[in-house]
Amino acid sequence: MPPCERCHEQAGRPGHFPPHRDLVPGPVLRDEAGQKVYTYRCRRCGQAMLLQAPAADLPDRWSFGGRTCRF
Ligand SMILES: [Zn+2]
Repeated sequence: MPPCERCHEQAGRPGHFPPHRDLVPGPVLRDEAGQKVYTYRCRRCGQAMLLQAPAADLPDRWSFGGRTCRF
């Protein structure tokens, strides 16, 4: 299933933008650099969404998780 409209709107937003109402929080992971990655799963379309900073000195952003995200 392709990402729903709300997930499309979520992707690319800054981290202070709240998760949309169908996003269910998942585990907090760590990327290769040890940065926290907040994970969410959409109960409407099943899309994984990630909230993470692309680098230590950059602000958090929302992005699509890969299809292989296992959480
Ligand atoms: Zn969705």
